[in-house]
Amino acid sequence: MPNIILAKKAGFCFGVKRAVDEALNCQKEKSKKIYTLGPLIHNKDVVSELEGKDIHSITMEDINMLQKDDVIVIRSHGVSKATIDLLKERHLDIVDASCPYVKHIHNIVQKYYEDGYQIVIIGDENHPEVIGINGWCNNSAIILNQGEVKTKLARKVCVVCQTTERQENFKRAINSIAEECKEFVVFNTICSATEERQKSAAELAGQVDIMIVVGDKTSSNTNKLYEICKNKCHKTFHIENHLELNKFFHKDIDISNMNIGITAGASTPDNVINEVISKLKGDVCNG
Ligand code: SF4
Repeated sequence: MPNIILAKKAGFCFGVKRAVDEALNCQKEKSKKIYTLGPLIHNKDVVSELEGKDIHSITMEDINMLQKDDVIVIRSHGVSKATIDLLKERHLDIVDASCPYVKHIHNIVQKYYEDGYQIVIIGDENHPEVIGINGWCNNSAIILNQGEVKTKLARKVCVVCQTTERQENFKRAINSIAEECKEFVVFNTICSATEERQKSAAELAGQVDIMIVVGDKTSSNTNKLYEICKNKCHKTFHIENHLELNKFFHKDIDISNMNIGITAGASTPDNVINEVISKLKGDVCNG
């Protein structure tokens, strides 16, 4: 049987767990259909499980179909100020499950924007969390994806980053800003849950023969874990659940004496991780 080692920190983070629990509790309490603005988490299995419990993901375009007092849950990524205002205008029952760490970034951005600072966000401009953050400075932020400043910065700059950003990118961006700008204030808003997962994944990937990263292909923090592990362990595989193990492991590959590391993104539930471990211990190694 292979030696399977789970990273010290892996799987559901505090913010995601909190958002899922709030939606479930809310549905129980109100005993009616609950809507979430976008999938509550980046995990197809969990989203379809929630559907079964009358918790449905909708898009901004679907908002017009909702009635007064319909319940709408804001997911852990958070949303822009304009979105909150729109939901209020429509008299919806808003359950704000934005992660408190993301909310903290909104507060920083709003305050410094009002104080006349140019906001810089280090992160992916297409990620909902970054879109939401930008919405607290009237969508005026400069967004640095690869950590290099390409535009002229204002005299006073306030820098924040996406909670799942990699430390290396963050440092590169700060160095680049320092070359361009004399007065800037920096908030390292990388979430400790992300950092801890990245650190323990890197540590483990450096010690094993094979590394498996479990999580949805659309989850940015899972994709980042994959990149980090791949740097340390050439044989790193990204799977969404145990069903995908067969793509990489089949009976001709003997993994019985191997050390296999496992990590998982912040939106991967424990049962999905456990199924992968059981399959590796059982089916896969038995061929
Ligand atoms: S990764 Fe961190 S910031 Fe993002 S939802 Fe989880 S706890 Fe919150």
